[in-house]
Amino acid sequence: SAPPARPDGLAPPKLSFEFFPPKTEALEAQLWTCIRRLEPLRPRFVSVTYGAGGSTRERTHATVARIARETSLTPAAHLTCVGASRAEVDQVARAYWDAGVRHIVALRGDPPAGTARYEPHPEGYAYAADLVAGLRAIAPFEISVAAYPEGHPAALSPEADLDNLKRKIDAGATRAITQYFFEADVYLRFLDRCVAAGITVPIVPGILPVTNFAQVLKFSAMCGATVPAWLAHLFEGLDDDPETRRMVAAVAAAELVRLLQAAGIDEFHFYTLNRPDLTYAIAHILGVRPKASEAVTTAAA
Ligand code: FAD
Repeated sequence: SAPPARPDGLAPPKLSFEFFPPKTEALEAQLWTCIRRLEPLRPRFVSVTYGAGGSTRERTHATVARIARETSLTPAAHLTCVGASRAEVDQVARAYWDAGVRHIVALRGDPPAGTARYEPHPEGYAYAADLVAGLRAIAPFEISVAAYPEGHPAALSPEADLDNLKRKIDAGATRAITQYFFEADVYLRFLDRCVAAGITVPIVPGILPVTNFAQVLKFSAMCGATVPAWLAHLFEGLDDDPETRRMVAAVAAAELVRLLQAAGIDEFHFYTLNRPDLTYAIAHILGVRPKASEAVTTAAA
């Protein structure tokens, strides 16, 4: 029989990867290097985000359509409710279906920069659950939605937030992807609550390898993710040492995944930030490898 992939004998997990649409030609080249590097790992799907307030509608579409056309990957398009009428959102969804895209990550979206509170568009989908129902009426998309192990910052209560997740699933979503978190227990407690609430679809942990600790600290304050003191300690003194930071980040993320795997989780979504190296290294540690023939091609390329 084949040798065990890892010392703990656990099978390699299933992975998916998230990218954001590039703003410039240089960033586009960086994204495509990233996509090509990760492609041989055969993720279940790769998703492309939708800029705040729908600001990347064309760029997201172009990126998703190119992935569908030019790679062996299965693309998923993020789509939000913000700043658009139902008719406009439906039109974007139909264009995806026509381009062969079958998977949508359906989100409410955040208000555009400079706007304090979310206000639904008067003719728009108000919340993600409404968007899921709208998409279901358009075509038999596979639909993923967002989940928040530590609660969405605007949720009235943890219970209300869980009810909202349940509504999104009941409306037709078949998977939730979580906001990132750093403590395995945070996710596992949330999963227990989901199961108790009768949510049976996969709740896929979103994993953020930390490259820029200061940025993560800032972003976490906005999105409600707790940054534990031990994580700060891990990155202490490395502000001017990006190489060591990357190695530490790979180990920390691989450790989190292993803890979750030991608890029975076998599927993970990686926030790549369009940089392949950390995700590739972590996948390698976890036993996710290209086929031998593809590995040779990649190395020779
Ligand atoms: P919803 O599920 O609609 O919930 C939003 C808030 O409203 C929650 O507090 C909920 O409890 C509350 N709520 C829901 N229904 C009602 C109701 N009827 N009345 C009152 N309150 C209600 N943002 C982007 O702009 N582009 C992206 O590509 C993107 N990708 C993401 C991917 C993932 C995996 C995650 C976790 C988040 C992503 N986001 C993205 C961020 C997301 O848009 C924000 O977190 C947003 O604030 C909430 O979106 P949602 O889909 O979770 O909203």
